[in-house]
Amino acid sequence: MTVDYTAMWQDLGLDLAAHEGLLTVLGAAYDEVYLSQQNRPEGMSYFDFCVSEIHGLRVKELMDAKAAGRKVVGSFCLYVPEEIILAANGIAVGLCSGADMGSAHSGRLLPKNTCAMIRSFVDFKLAKVCPYMEASDLVIGETTCDGKKKAYEIFGELHNTFVLEVPHTKSEAARVLWRSELDRLVARVEDLSGVAITAEGLAEGIRIANAKRAALQRLARLRAASPAPLSGRDALLINQIQFYDDPTRFTGSLNALCDELDERVQRGEGVAPAGTPRVLVSGCPMSAPNWKIPFLLERSGGVIVGEESCVGERGTRNLVPEVDGSRERLLDAIAERYLKIDCAVFTPNEERIDHVVAMARDLNADGVLHYVIQFCTPYATEAYRVDEALRAEGLPLLKLETDYSMEDTGALETRIQAFLEMLRAKRGE
Ligand code: SF4
Ligand code: SF4
Repeated sequence: MTVDYTAMWQDLGLDLAAHEGLLTVLGAAYDEVYLSQQNRPEGMSYFDFCVSEIHGLRVKELMDAKAAGRKVVGSFCLYVPEEIILAANGIAVGLCSGADMGSAHSGRLLPKNTCAMIRSFVDFKLAKVCPYMEASDLVIGETTCDGKKKAYEIFGELHNTFVLEVPHTKSEAARVLWRSELDRLVARVEDLSGVAITAEGLAEGIRIANAKRAALQRLARLRAASPAPLSGRDALLINQIQFYDDPTRFTGSLNALCDELDERVQRGEGVAPAGTPRVLVSGCPMSAPNWKIPFLLERSGGVIVGEESCVGERGTRNLVPEVDGSRERLLDAIAERYLKIDCAVFTPNEERIDHVVAMARDLNADGVLHYVIQFCTPYATEAYRVDEALRAEGLPLLKLETDYSMEDTGALETRIQAFLEMLRAKRGE
C-alpha cells in the first residue's frame, strides 16, 4: 500500500510542485542507474527500499522522533562528529547536496564559479525541496573550503546554523583550536537538545558510529576480491545512505549484505566478469543522487572497486578508540579521530596521497579516476600530487572535472572508454 506523505511535506514547508519534480527525476534516474543492473546481491533490496522511502518513511521517523522531543541535526561534511549529536540523543543527518536544481535560486546569491555541491545546498534550501534540511533543528557548517565558509554566511540567514572552525593544518596549535571547537559544539548541542552530554552518552555515540564504520570497512575489504562481488554504483549508494538512515539498522543491513558478499567471494562470483578493468575513484565526494561518473564508467565496461572519497573510505577509515574515561578524555579521542581525515583543504596533505596509492594497491586497481567537481580548487590542485605518486607506481590516472549537469556525458564517456581501453591494453588483453 502506498502511503501519502503530502501532509507531512506540507507541514515541513516544502514546495510541493518542485518537490514532486525532484522525486520524478530521482525515480527515473534510479531505474536507469540502479535497477537496470544484472546480478545484484539480494541484500541490496534493503538499500533499494531506503531510496524508495527516502522522502517518505525515513522522514516520518525523523518527525516522530522530533515529536518525542529529539533533535535532528544536519551537516554537509565529515568533520562534524556524529558521536556528539548521538550523545545528546539527537539524530545526525548528512544533507546530500548532490543534485542540480538549475541554480535559478542560488544564481543571485553565489558567484558563477561556485562548485556544484555548494550551489546545490543553497538551491535546495531556497527551492524548499529537501525534507531533511527542513526537518533539521540545526545545521552544522564548517570552515573547510572558502566557498563553503562564505556560503554558510548566506545559508545562516535562511536556517538555524552553527559553523565549526576546522583548521587547515595539523600543527599543535591547530589541534588545540580543533579540540576547543568541539567544546563549543558540545555546548551548542546541549543548548539545542536540553540534554547534558556525558561520558556515558559519548561512549554510546562512539559505539554506534564505530559499528557503522566497521561494517563499511568490511564492505570495502570484500571489494578487493576478483571478480568484484558488488558494483561500484551499489557501493556508492550504500555509502550515501549511511548519512541519513538509522545507524543501527543500517549497520545490521550492511552486515547481512556483507555475509552474502562473503559467500559470493567464496564461490568466485562477481558482478562483472574476471578481467574487467578495476578502477579506484578518488577525489571529491559524490553525494546522493550524484551517480553520473560511476554509471558512465560501469556502463562502459569497467568496475569501480573503491572510493577514496568522503562518501567512501575517507570517512570510514578511522574509528574512535573505545576507551573508558571522563567526558574530556572521550572528546579528546573524538577530536583526534576527526583530525586524521585527509581532506584536500589541509596542508600539507601527504596522508591523502599515500592513501590513494595504498588503496589502489590493496584493491588491485588497474587505474585511478580522479574526480573533481568543477571549481573545487583544493581537489583540482591536489590532483597533480596524486598523479605524480601514482606514476611512480606505474598506475594510470584519468582526471575528470565536471558538475551535476548531464550536458557533458557524451564527452566524459568517450574519455572513460579510452581510459578503460588503455587499462585493458596495459594488462595485455
Ligand atoms: S571534501 Fe572536505 S570539505 Fe568536502 S565533505 Fe569532505 S571533508 Fe568536508
Ligand atoms: S567539492 Fe571542493 S569546493 Fe566544493 S564544497 Fe567540497 S571542498 Fe569545497
